[in-house]
Amino acid sequence: MYNALPEKIQSFMPPIIIKSPHTGKPLAVAGDQWFAIDETVTLDYLRSIWTRTVGGKAVEENKNVEKKEFQVESSRTGEVYTVSFGMSGAHCTCAGYGFRRKCSHIDKVRKENSL
Ligand SMILES: [Zn+2]
Repeated sequence: MYNALPEKIQSFMPPIIIKSPHTGKPLAVAGDQWFAIDETVTLDYLRSIWTRTVGGKAVEENKNVEKKEFQVESSRTGEVYTVSFGMSGAHCTCAGYGFRRKCSHIDKVRKENSL
């Protein structure tokens, strides 16, 4: 049996999702910790509850370095753009960002995720 997913995950390696070769059910793997999850748990969610630890100590500053990506659907065209946050700031794959270096998708993600 695997443990249920806790509220916080601490490990050196970021969590990943695999399918159990035995049961075919999804599992979250973070370092040497294995958690039973259901299909509704996403990698984004796992990353959001994850803290990198080195030698048992949380390394908070690495969270800012870690690149975060969000898929945003355009309300006008229905096209899906990728908004990412990294060390060099926010980026979006839409044309508007290409011209102006800012766009409504980034604003939307910032607002919804308090980034
Ligand atoms: Zn955009």
